[in-house]
Order: sequence, then structure tokens, then C-alpha cells
Amino acid sequence: MNKAVVDRNRKLGESVVNSMKQRHFDAYYCESCEEAVALALSLMPKGTSVGWGGSASIAEAGLIDAIYESGEYEILDRSKVSPEELEEFARRVAFCDTFLASANAITEDGQIVNVDGNGNRVSAMIYGPKSVIVVAGVNKIVKAHEDAVSRARNTAAPINAQRFEVNTPCKGSGKCADCKSPDSICATIVTHRLSKPAGRIKVIIVGTNLGF
Ligand code: SF4
Repeated sequence: MNKAVVDRNRKLGESVVNSMKQRHFDAYYCESCEEAVALALSLMPKGTSVGWGGSASIAEAGLIDAIYESGEYEILDRSKVSPEELEEFARRVAFCDTFLASANAITEDGQIVNVDGNGNRVSAMIYGPKSVIVVAGVNKIVKAHEDAVSRARNTAAPINAQRFEVNTPCKGSGKCADCKSPDSICATIVTHRLSKPAGRIKVIIVGTNLGF
């Protein structure tokens, strides 16, 4: 990567990390995915359970592969269960030891914004798992809260709509139409203003683009 891009990403990422620490998130900046994966593993006690709710960023970063390769965890992988088992499985994930997630957007002042269809992803971030690790590329950083909601609904959600069997306006147009479709993947919009208890949510900002 071009040095000027690396420098800019680091300066922006470190500034957001400082903002997040003031909100009681344990926040870190890593220049590379390799560094981020090593850090994430060090935050997950060996022998404990780990689950996730479907995040392109954690897979792209290489964290899922690294967890499997380590052989050190009870892995609750939703991709391994049948559609019939998924709802019951999601309840197990909701109380795992470490829940992995990303963010649809992170504001410069350190807030995390996500939209969710079924709500399993955001609910586990709010309560249940003992620890939450959020891995997000610098591409998720936006100026203000309204930009974060806009990014979640006009960029992340319409892209996610392409990945799923849903019938939503954004699947056809690539932009949000503020739908009330039963298939909506934006049934819930959640802002994490703070980590409570302090340090329960760990955030690793990576100096590259991850997810969408
Ligand atoms: S059209 Fe509906 S599902 Fe698509 S981004 Fe907007 S609210 Fe979400």
C-alpha cells in the first residue's frame, strides 16, 4: 500500500481509537490484518467458546481461518448448521464467551452503528456474550452519527441485500428506499455509544478496507 495511504489510515484510525477509549471501549489500531488477527486471538481465552453473526470483515481479515487453525476454541459456526437448526443455534451463540462482529459504520467520535434484520447480531453485541470483539477496516469510519446511519442504510445494507434471498427495494436499486418490507434487513438500527461494562466491547480498527 502507498505510504501516504498507510500514514493517513494510521492517523485517522488512532484518532478514532482515542475517541473510543473515552467511551470505555478497549480499542486498538492495527496496520495489517495479520496484526489484527494475532491481537484478536490474544483477547480470546483458550478453551472458551466463540461465535459470530455473519460478518464479511472478520472472514476477510482471516480471523475465522485462524480460529479454526488454532484448534483452541469451541467454535459456534452458523454456516455449519441447517436452516432448521439456525434459530436454536443462534440462542447458543447469544451466550457464547466471545462474540465476533464488525460495524456498518464507526463515527470519528467513537460510536458504532449497525443495522440488522433478525437482530441476532446486534442483540449479542448489546448483551449476552461475556466479551465482544469488533474488527473493522478504516473504510467504516465516517464523520458523524448521521453519516453512520446513512452508510449503514445506503451502502452496507443494499450490498448485504445482494447476498441474501430477500425481496427489498434496495436489492433492485442499490440504494435505500426506507422500506417496510417483511424481508427488510434494517428492522433494527443500533448505536453503541459506550461499552458497558467498560472493556466488554473490544474494537480493532485495521488500516485497510474490510467488508462493506
Ligand atoms: S430498502 Fe429496506 S432493506 Fe433496503 S436498505 Fe432500505 S430499509 Fe433496509
